[in-house]
Amino acid sequence: MTDGNVLLIHTGGTIGMKKTDRGYEPTTGYLGHRMSQIDVFHDSDAPGERVTAPSRFGRRVRYDIHEMGELLDSANMNRAQWVAIAEVIAANHDRYDAFVVMHGTDTMAYTASALSFMLQGLDKTVVLTGSQIPLSRTRNDAVDNLLGALLLAGTYSIPEVGIYFSDKLLRGNRASKVDASGFEAFRSGNFPALVHVGVEVDVRWDLVRPPDPGGLQILPITSEHVAALRLFPSLSAEVLERFLQPPIEGLVLETYGAGNAPDNRPRLLQVLKEAVDRGVVIINCTQCFRGMVTDDYSTGRALADVGVVAGADLTAEAALTKLQWLLSRGLTPGEVRHRMTQSLRGELTEPQATPRFRWDG
Ligand code: ASP
Repeated sequence: MTDGNVLLIHTGGTIGMKKTDRGYEPTTGYLGHRMSQIDVFHDSDAPGERVTAPSRFGRRVRYDIHEMGELLDSANMNRAQWVAIAEVIAANHDRYDAFVVMHGTDTMAYTASALSFMLQGLDKTVVLTGSQIPLSRTRNDAVDNLLGALLLAGTYSIPEVGIYFSDKLLRGNRASKVDASGFEAFRSGNFPALVHVGVEVDVRWDLVRPPDPGGLQILPITSEHVAALRLFPSLSAEVLERFLQPPIEGLVLETYGAGNAPDNRPRLLQVLKEAVDRGVVIINCTQCFRGMVTDDYSTGRALADVGVVAGADLTAEAALTKLQWLLSRGLTPGEVRHRMTQSLRGELTEPQATPRFRWDG
């Protein structure tokens, strides 16, 4: 059986941090050194090589490590790093079977979402992982996450951008960070995990998307003028009006429940309408972790009536990165609005695809 061949792209984050005089910091060259001290990352029959021991089916996973120029706490990352990661994947696409991206947890869901849109024609597995406790510490979640990501990527062809954390592979553009310290740091409120790892590895092949045809190309995010705004009961029309002034091009409006906003505040709705009429694309996403934006309530319909687009069950992370990506494509606001309602990478459930039972028939 041939070995799997994976490129580990190290971007920074807690997983590869080392204790320094200034506290934990990402340190160049440290990750490879630390992995070479941990048995599970080596086949004892192949000393000095970066290859895992054979699985019970005899498969080993070889890996090389590529460190990004500057290792970052993911709070310091932005679209420049997203594009740089995509470029490393594209440049090494033909040499490796799959890619594991080691990343800080704070903005991992944004990077995973952004990569899912930018990697047009993806036909190989891309898995982001990280940890809450660094690999340098004796007790950590880093070994399990990194080993799991490496073995999954080197064994299964899941041509998606996923997040592997705490025994689950989630679709990256469906995941959110939900815990600042617990090991189950990521969850996906509206879509099942693609893989559960237990005694057996249970891959939900019925959910895995087929490879994108056409060959890999990077469609980068260049737009910067997108923001999110959380609705709250005393948001004033004046603040909203200022917020929606140029250069803003896209807004993710985080609304209540099933996509509701006050319909008894005409000035607020008027401000939204004026922005839509100027070409600002406004997407309605729920503040809730689970569920989708519907037109069940008149408070939700009021937003649709002023041209706010229902974002179905998009996470805020996916909505922001998708909006940024679409606004980078040279489309008209009307085209961006339309494509925001379509599932391009499995990031949302298109409303008509969800049969809903109603008491009133
Ligand atoms: N602040 C760190 C980061 O996102 C947290 C982590 O990696 O867990 O880079």
